[in-house]
Amino acid sequence: MNDGPISKSVFAAVEAGGTKFRAALMSASFEIIDEAWIPTTQPIETTEAVIAFFSSLQRADALGIASFGPLVVDPESPNYGSLADTPKPGWSQFGLLRRLQEGLGVPCAIQTDVEAAAVAEHQLGAGQGFSSVGYVTVGTGIGAAVAIDGTPFRGRDHTELGHIPIRRIDGDDFEGICPFHGDCLEGMASGPAIAKRWNCDPAQLDERDDVWDLEAKYLAQLVRVYAYSFAPDIVLFGGGVGARPDMAQRVQKCVAADLAGYSVSHAQNDQLVKRAGLGSNAGLVGAALSAAEIVRGWQ
Ligand code: ZN
Repeated sequence: MNDGPISKSVFAAVEAGGTKFRAALMSASFEIIDEAWIPTTQPIETTEAVIAFFSSLQRADALGIASFGPLVVDPESPNYGSLADTPKPGWSQFGLLRRLQEGLGVPCAIQTDVEAAAVAEHQLGAGQGFSSVGYVTVGTGIGAAVAIDGTPFRGRDHTELGHIPIRRIDGDDFEGICPFHGDCLEGMASGPAIAKRWNCDPAQLDERDDVWDLEAKYLAQLVRVYAYSFAPDIVLFGGGVGARPDMAQRVQKCVAADLAGYSVSHAQNDQLVKRAGLGSNAGLVGAALSAAEIVRGWQ
C-alpha cells in the first residue's frame, strides 16, 4: 500500500444497511477511531443522524459509502448513487450519495455493501494474495460480488448474484420466499428462508446436519456460477449464516460434486471456498478503502 501523505489521512466510512447504518471515522490504517450505529428509519432522518455524527468529529478527507442495494452505481446515470426500486419504504430513488456528500462537504465514493466487502477481503482479509476474489454474504438476504485485482466487477450496474435461479434439491418442496422470484437462491437459502422452511430460528438448528447440508447444496450452486462466470481464485463466505464455522467446508464438499471435474479455472477447485476473514467489519473497511482511493488519486 502506498504511504506518503495518505498516512496522515482520516476517512469517513458509512455502511448503509436495511436495518441500521454504521458510520465510522477511520484511520489511514483502517482502524476505527470512533463509530456510531444509527437505526434505518426514513432516509432524511437517518442521513441527518449520520451527518450529525461526523460533524462532531475531526473532519475526514473523504467519505466512502457501502450501501444496501439495489443501488445505481453507473456514474453516467443521472441517478448515480441513488437507491433503485427497493421494498424498503421511503428509500426507492433516494439520492444517498448526493445527500451525504453535500452534508459532509467532502469527496465521496459509493459502492454496494458486498462490493465493498469483496474489495476489503482482497486487500486486508482472507482474499489477500489472490487476484480474483468472490465474496458472498448469507444472512437476512444473499449478496454476492467479485473483486478483480481489487476492483468490483460490474456491467452497466452491479451484479445481483443472490437472485440466480437454482436447481431444486430432490425432496425439497419449500416454495421459497423471494418477493420477486419465489425460489431463487435468496428465496431458498437466506436466513429467513431457513427459518421458514424449518419453522425455527436458524440459531437453534446448530446440530442439524440435514439443515446445513441442504443449505450447502444451494450455496454450492452459486459457487459453480462464480467458477464458470468469473474463474475466481477464491470464494469467501460471510454473514450470519455464511460465516458459520463449518459452512465453507460444507459448501466446498458440494462444489466438487457440482463441478463434476469440469473446470475452466486454473484455481484449485478443492480449495475454492473459504470463510471470509474480516467478519462484520468487511463492508465498513471496504467503504474506507474507497475513500482512501480518492485521496490516493490526489497524490
Ligand atoms: Zn429473488
